Amino acid sequence: EFEGRVVLVSGGSSGIGRATALAFARRGASVVVAGRDRPRGEEVAAACAALGAHAAFVAADLSVPDAAAKMVERARAAFGRLDIAFNNAGIQEAAAPLAEQPDAVFEAVFGLNVRAVFLAMKAEIAAMRELGAGVIINNASVSGSRNPNGGLALYSASKAAVLSMTRTAALEYGPAGIRINAISPGRVDTPLMQTAAANLGLPVERIAASLPARRVGRPEDAAEAVVWLASDAASFVFGHDLAVDGGFLAS
Ligand code: NAD
Repeated sequence: EFEGRVVLVSGGSSGIGRATALAFARRGASVVVAGRDRPRGEEVAAACAALGAHAAFVAADLSVPDAAAKMVERARAAFGRLDIAFNNAGIQEAAAPLAEQPDAVFEAVFGLNVRAVFLAMKAEIAAMRELGAGVIINNASVSGSRNPNGGLALYSASKAAVLSMTRTAALEYGPAGIRINAISPGRVDTPLMQTAAANLGLPVERIAASLPARRVGRPEDAAEAVVWLASDAASFVFGHDLAVDGGFLAS
C-alpha cells in the first residue's frame, strides 16, 4: 500500500511511535525511525526491516532547537525523499496545579511538544513542497481538548497548540498538495500513560472502567489511525483531529 513512500516517525523508539513505525513497515513503506535512544531506535528499525521494509534509524534529541530540521534532512537523505511525517515525540509534566509548576517545566514541555513540532513541520513542508505532495500527522492528545482531572495545565496547553497549528497549516498547505491532520489518543498503554496514571493516583483499571471501550488503548490503536490518515483513503481529510480514545471525548 505504501510501497516507494518514505515515512518519518519521531519518538519512534517507544510506545505509539514504535507501533506506528511497525504498522507502516508492514504495509511496505520505507521507515525512518527517529529518536533519542539509539539502541532502542535501532531495534525498532531492525524490527521494521524484519518485516521486509527499508528502515533506518536517525538520532534526534528534539529538545535541542536545531535538531528538528536536522532530523528531517537526515530522514530525507536516508531514502532520497519524504512523503509522510508523524510528529509523535512528546513529554508530559508531573501532575501539579498550574501555580505550582516550575518555570523550567514550561520550557521543557513547550520546547518539545510545541517548538519541535513547529520546527519539524517547517522542514517537512519544505521537503514536501519540492515533491508537490505529502502528508503530515501530528500526535496531539485528548488533553488538548479536555482535561477533567486537572494537574496537566502545560501538557494540555501544548497539545491545544499542536491542534491549532495542525488546522492552520492544513489550510495553508492543502492547496500545495500537503495534507495535515492530527490524532488525539486518549489513554493508551505506554510508558507515558503508566507514569501519568501513577502521577494522578489513578489505577489503570479505574481508567479502563471509566471509558465506553472498557479498556485502555493499545499503541496499535493509535498507529492504525495514523496509517489511515496517511493513506489515499483519507485524501479528502484535511485539518482533522481524529480521537482514538475509547470514547473519552464523547462524554
Ligand atoms: P512514550 O513515552 O512511549 O513515547 C514518547 C516518545 O517521545 C519516546 O519515543 C521518547 O523517546 C520520545 N521523546 C521524548 N523526549 C524526546 C526528545 N527530547 N527528543 C526526541 N524524542 C523524545 O509515550 P507515548 O504515549 O507513545 O507518547 C507518544 C506521543 O503520544 C506523545 O506526544 C504523547 O503526548 C502522545 N499521547 C500519548 C497518550 C497516552 O496515553 N499514551 C495519550 C495522548 C497523547
